Amino acid sequence: EGGIHLAGVSKRFRTRQGETLALDALDLDVPEGEFLAVVGPSGCGKSTLLRLVAGLMPASSGSVQVFGRDVAGPVTELGIVFQQPVLLDWRDVLGNVLFQAGIRGLSEAAFRDRALALLRQVGLEDFADRYPHELSGGMRQRASIARALLHDPPLLLMDEPFGALDALTREQMRLDLEALWMRSRKTVLFITHSVDEAVLLADRVAVMSPRPGRIERLLQVDLPRP
Ligand code: ADP
Ligand code: ADP
Repeated sequence: EGGIHLAGVSKRFRTRQGETLALDALDLDVPEGEFLAVVGPSGCGKSTLLRLVAGLMPASSGSVQVFGRDVAGPVTELGIVFQQPVLLDWRDVLGNVLFQAGIRGLSEAAFRDRALALLRQVGLEDFADRYPHELSGGMRQRASIARALLHDPPLLLMDEPFGALDALTREQMRLDLEALWMRSRKTVLFITHSVDEAVLLADRVAVMSPRPGRIERLLQVDLPRP
């Protein structure tokens, strides 16, 4: 079971002003192989949802399961892409992608061919030996997508991956991501505030309400796929 299962999940943050309820008794099932987009206004709990699924912080109550197991700490069998690509300045693009193997205690040399193939898929084959400061924002984000996919994770989490990009780059990235995902059929949780992007990419769209922490609607997308 490669999906995501949330039941009655709440998340409270204690702040100086009191308490913020970021997620309010949320139920959500993402079956294995589904591409689910989560849309909603800023502050409705999208990032919190993703962080709980990734095991980057604990829920206040309720059950979060990934791959059929309770999440009790950082989940290593997934790939994450954040809005701001975080790359190591002192490593070239190939080195940054290979870092994903390194931090898992795997041999970087063994992943070299796969890393180069992924860089080809994201259109960075000619930039493997460039350094992050030599790349545009879109290219850095492509590199971080390649890095997230290096260990072939069954689950990919993306938090506004195109949020920092200009419209043209965004459109091209969307097309590329669609092509990549079509080939891999991973389970994807994709956070965005763009309804267009959600509808174009996803199988289903969860719409979160401005009253933080609730899913208002779950929509099935029936667009013909290439
Ligand atoms: P986005 O809307 O793109 O998800 P935000 O600007 O809301 O991003 O939040 C960015 C980061 O700041 C996230 O890691 C979030 O958890 C954290 N954050 C958001 N609101 C607060 C807050 N009131 N206090 C502390 N951290 C916060
Ligand atoms: P979104 O990603 O939809 O913008 P977030 O999940 O970042 O929303 O935030 C949901 C709510 O929780 C917001 O009110 C935000 O200010 C609050 N929040 C998020 N992270 C923190 C944090 N680390 N500390 C305190 N409040 C937070």
